[in-house]
Amino acid sequence: MNTPRYTGLIDRYRDRLPVREDTRAVSLGEGNTPLIRLQNISRDLEGHLHGKSANDLTKRIEIYVKYEGLNPTGSFKDRGMTMAVTQAVAEGSRAIICASTGNTSASAAAYAARAGITAFVLIPEGKIALGKLAQAMMHGAIVLQIRGNFDAGMQLVKEVAESAPVTIVNSINPYRIQGQKTAAFEIMDALGHPPDYHCLPVGNAGNISAYWLGYTEYYRDGVVGKRPVMCGYQATGAAPFLRGHPVENPETVATAIRIGNPQSWETAAGAQQESGGWFDEFTDEEILAAQRLLAQKEGIFCEPASAISLAGAMRDIKSGKIPGGSRIVCTLTGHGLKDPDTAIAQSTSPTVINAELESVRKAILENLEGTT
Ligand SMILES: *Cc1c(COP(=O)(O)O)cnc(C)c1O
Repeated sequence: MNTPRYTGLIDRYRDRLPVREDTRAVSLGEGNTPLIRLQNISRDLEGHLHGKSANDLTKRIEIYVKYEGLNPTGSFKDRGMTMAVTQAVAEGSRAIICASTGNTSASAAAYAARAGITAFVLIPEGKIALGKLAQAMMHGAIVLQIRGNFDAGMQLVKEVAESAPVTIVNSINPYRIQGQKTAAFEIMDALGHPPDYHCLPVGNAGNISAYWLGYTEYYRDGVVGKRPVMCGYQATGAAPFLRGHPVENPETVATAIRIGNPQSWETAAGAQQESGGWFDEFTDEEILAAQRLLAQKEGIFCEPASAISLAGAMRDIKSGKIPGGSRIVCTLTGHGLKDPDTAIAQSTSPTVINAELESVRKAILENLEGTT
């Protein structure tokens, strides 16, 4: 009757992770996130395709979102952090450090607290979403706001770790990628096979590398018979993969992917090429439109960077690049509550009324007009 209590992704996938059998995981129960099938957005897209006399009139569109915002600190970074911090503790490290656009710092702070060690986090001054800053502060990390962007922070972290007793927990730490590959395992375990296309945002490019690693491991071991096409999406103001070189001053409302010099360039480019996939770019307006669409049509609240995966899937379905009848997974990398400012800025303000029955009644009737 009882299913065993879920105790995190290291325990679940230990035989596929570089941890010793007797190593105790530093875990907050990360992973095991829902894979939600979109309903209303898919239906609207099918309508669009039918109107276009597409070749796929009879084909259904199957889009799933892997809702990584439901990890313990609200982003997929927890998958990598449980591994990185478990390893750091096993090696006797007393402190971890990272550069972060926000979510890595939130995750590092929480897992360091759990492990009883110190977290140092370097974040770009003024360019971090409010929720993420609150998390890093609340979990007791030493927060260093630098007058510079993520790429500058990343460089500083690499240099300081050579002479200070700290373990880097950015995704250049190979244990991060190991932990993050489990998201691909979960998707294949849930569907019984890989999707045809996997769409996700690309910032520092660790996550696309991690998914590809996960898909590849199941494929090599014969657990599944194929691998998906990998589609990586960037914000127009921070799109080094589209430009073909690092970008000096990256800028986008999607602060989680405001990165100009991705550290996992080679592996990400390898994933794109080997899988027959592509990179594409989206404006801030397109990103926010996709964020609102998910929130208002499906009831799923993700942060701006995450929504680019849906923006990408939708564009590529409409253009036929992703053919009808395909099974698609979009990773929603972080929770919408991370960035309340951006959510409120693009929403309609609440209506202020008198605390009277008639005012409430009137408001209801006005707003229901024409919605039967
Ligand atoms: C870290 C992050 C990304 C980018 O992932 P990379 O591995 O750096 O490419 C995207 N979205 C969110 C919410 C993130 O926190």
